[in-house]
Amino acid sequence: MKIDLSNLIVGKYYQINLDSTIEINEIETEENNIKLTKPIKINGGIYNTDDGIYLEAKVYFEFETNCSRCLKELIVEEEANLQYRIQIEEDEEIPFDEEIIKASEYTIDLTKPIISSILLSIPMKTICDENCKGICPQCGNDLNEGQCNCEDDNIDPRLAKLKELMD
Ligand SMILES: [Zn+2]
Ligand SMILES: [Zn+2]
Repeated sequence: MKIDLSNLIVGKYYQINLDSTIEINEIETEENNIKLTKPIKINGGIYNTDDGIYLEAKVYFEFETNCSRCLKELIVEEEANLQYRIQIEEDEEIPFDEEIIKASEYTIDLTKPIISSILLSIPMKTICDENCKGICPQCGNDLNEGQCNCEDDNIDPRLAKLKELMD
């Protein structure tokens, strides 16, 4: 996603509004593949200030995952922040604590920063519901769909009945 900054740099504009979408279906990482279920929305701007050129935007995305408790498939909406200083000239001095995007011929490419902001915003755990009961660690039953028979001191009620008769 390339943005031409020349009008901002020559001072024709003070800001460029960003309100667009970018379609990325999948982000591959070393651990897993993240499937994005709809186009990513970017909303914000690039601002020419006395201190330099800054990008500030929100990234809205939706991805496929599983409930950490019951493993059910889920689609989760999240948002991420894009905050960068834009470096126009190679020799431009940038304070050490500012994250930068380097412009090349007055153009920046936002694809990589968008992807890294998404990767940073994916939660470690996702649950389908606050009250999700998860799965039984013994039989693997989804406990949201009903109790399994493991809970009662590990004795199947039918067997308990049988034991009673035998006694
Ligand atoms: Zn769940
Ligand atoms: Zn069980």
